[in-house]
Amino acid sequence: MDFIQDLTKKIMQTNLQKTALKTEVDFLKISAGEIKPAQKITVQEKFLHEKFVTFGKNAKEWTRKCILLLLEIEKHEIWKKKNFSCINEYAAKLAGMSHDLVNDSLRVLHFIEDKPALMKVVEMKGINAVRAVITIATKETAEFWAEKAMTMSKHTLEVYVREFRARMQVEADKNLQGKSDISEAEIGAKNDAENWEKFRPGTAEMVKNQQLQAKLNFGEIKIMAEIDFGQLPKTDNADSSNSERNMESSILENLRNNLKLENPRDEDQTTPKKLVAMQLDPQILAQLEKLKGENGDWNDLMKQLLQMREDHLEEQKPESVKTDSRHIPAKIDRYVTSRTNGQCAFPGCNKKLNIKHHTQRFALEKIHDSDRLYGLCKAHERIAHLGLIENEDLSPKLWKVRAGADTTSEIGKAKYAIDQVVQKFRASPA
Ligand SMILES: [Zn+2]
Repeated sequence: MDFIQDLTKKIMQTNLQKTALKTEVDFLKISAGEIKPAQKITVQEKFLHEKFVTFGKNAKEWTRKCILLLLEIEKHEIWKKKNFSCINEYAAKLAGMSHDLVNDSLRVLHFIEDKPALMKVVEMKGINAVRAVITIATKETAEFWAEKAMTMSKHTLEVYVREFRARMQVEADKNLQGKSDISEAEIGAKNDAENWEKFRPGTAEMVKNQQLQAKLNFGEIKIMAEIDFGQLPKTDNADSSNSERNMESSILENLRNNLKLENPRDEDQTTPKKLVAMQLDPQILAQLEKLKGENGDWNDLMKQLLQMREDHLEEQKPESVKTDSRHIPAKIDRYVTSRTNGQCAFPGCNKKLNIKHHTQRFALEKIHDSDRLYGLCKAHERIAHLGLIENEDLSPKLWKVRAGADTTSEIGKAKYAIDQVVQKFRASPA
């Protein structure tokens, strides 16, 4: 009897926990604007809608099945044997598929046909689910990317791939410099960083990326040249394009030397600097230049100004609040929003913040603490709840995406457990 009582108690507790977590997830969704207040709808309208949803679901599923057959249809030229002029006509007439859909699907399928794990994702989630990874996945990493494509939405995956590429670049640069400049903050993540080698793309893709990068950098330098030196003088020389090119290269040379002079300190050699073109009011520029000083460094001045802003914010920081309510107190909420100027806190992301994220997971400590509460865009919030932000407990300056969730440290395990439940409820229909 005791056993049954125990079991009943356990089941009731689990259900209670489930309800509590469901409420938490609903709260997340409501604050993210995902749940809208229900509109009035008649029984008949509801019936019509449900019918449409069912048929639509089926239509999508059957199109997905057709897409998966395209490769074989193409290989065996079945369209030709059945007297169609091309595969596009075949697919349009027999399955109502547009030319674009067929061409695009074939392009993606050709990319992943030697990667069974990704083919499986297409089978289950459709072709759009893998599009973001086709230029980054290799045969060796296909399973890794398939897992990501299964757990992320199309948009989240796009953002993740972008951050991942940036991270790969950082790791590659570190390797090139042959130095282990791993800061204290990163020591915990050292093991994770060591595995980055396997994600490196093949040589052909790296060359392509480098060419593209060189093109982009050249564009930026050119803009600066125009700003610094005014218009290029016109020349009467018949071979004007040649002389312009010479002029351009001497300007570039000049700029490069200037840049070198502006970065005389040793530590600056490690981080490549970026050129920025800004439209500034002359008065503001004059003030800034004065603060920088003739031989000063723009980075030092900017750092100082940022530090002053941080100190100022620190003074205004509201006390943290311990409560059972997920609702973030208004003072803290306002502070967190203004800290990043209403934008996502992830480095380099300029999206509007969509949701406030407790980096320590609210359920673990039930505390609203501005130091551990950051506004994120939807994609970065999803990435965070997949446990894929490294240094999440530190300042966002040090955040980067990681390849897998931390399931070894105590805090990592606890967060992971919560994140798993959040995923489950998010996946279930509201
Ligand atoms: Zn973001």
